[in-house]
Amino acid sequence: MSKVAKATQASLVGNLNPVPGVKKVDPILIADGVTKRYGGLQAIDVAHVEIPRNAIVALIGPNGAGKTTLFNILTGFETADSGSWSYDGKALNGKAPHLLPKLGMVRTFQLTKVLGLLTVMENMKLAALKQTGERLLASFFPFLWSRQDRALELEATDILRRFKLLEKQADFAAGLSGGQRKLLEMARALMTHPKLIMLDEPMAGVNPALTESLLDHIKNLKQEGMTVLFVEHDVAMVREISDWVIVMAEGKIVAEGLPDQVLKDPAVIDAYLGSHQDSDLGLATGRITLPTGTKSTRSGK
Ligand code: ATP
Repeated sequence: MSKVAKATQASLVGNLNPVPGVKKVDPILIADGVTKRYGGLQAIDVAHVEIPRNAIVALIGPNGAGKTTLFNILTGFETADSGSWSYDGKALNGKAPHLLPKLGMVRTFQLTKVLGLLTVMENMKLAALKQTGERLLASFFPFLWSRQDRALELEATDILRRFKLLEKQADFAAGLSGGQRKLLEMARALMTHPKLIMLDEPMAGVNPALTESLLDHIKNLKQEGMTVLFVEHDVAMVREISDWVIVMAEGKIVAEGLPDQVLKDPAVIDAYLGSHQDSDLGLATGRITLPTGTKSTRSGK
């Protein structure tokens, strides 16, 4: 293992072995004994998992492994049959999804949930928390909220510029491409000033021209002090940006560790990644091209 990898591992798990469920030096999210059954299917059976703070953490595994269901449970969009989970030391069980951004935890969806009949700018402003103008009485008196509204617009303008969406600010969100909607969803999440941002398949459906900037945005979130937990099938993307990888299969956490180690583990490759193992970011971003007649193995999901 390289010196850098050793240092990263030490900073995340101390001197412990990276076995599934390993304790982290400074976890931001902790889940214990979380289970969920759909009829005869045990969709989630997570004994213990911790997400390290200020790291980019990938949650990977084959289709149906339970990644999205775990996201849904942790963020209050799905109820669990048992278990407890906490964010930054605060118990989250039973908390409605709309309360989580107030605590500093926000998520995006595999299928984006931007509001199509609002403009890009309206989507951004709507996401911001604690808006005076949303209170019924105050809404009648613009002097109470117009200054805050202008400040929000400035902040939204800045984020949209970074996400290369500023020229679309007056367009209806429904008119954006799938990739632009993903960017808008991430941009909108930032309006809540999160400490933990959870991204469900941020690359799926994104035009190769946008994938590189999306990766840069994710790296920047960490630079700005955030923790990023993301579900992804593109193994090359996982390798490129994650500090830590957690592998799920059949509802359980079955492996975790540094990307290079986990992604090289033959058991993980054979049993959990299957055909995704050869996915290549170079192909996805158009940075490399294959010789004629060679087929890309990148998942189309
Ligand atoms: P993918 O990578 O394909 O998105 P995933 O790892 O996110 O998969 P989940 O979507 O969490 O997997 O699904 C886990 C299992 O639970 C699957 O077998 C799925 O069919 C099942 N499942 C998920 N939601 C429901 C539901 N509402 N009702 C019944 N079964 C469900």
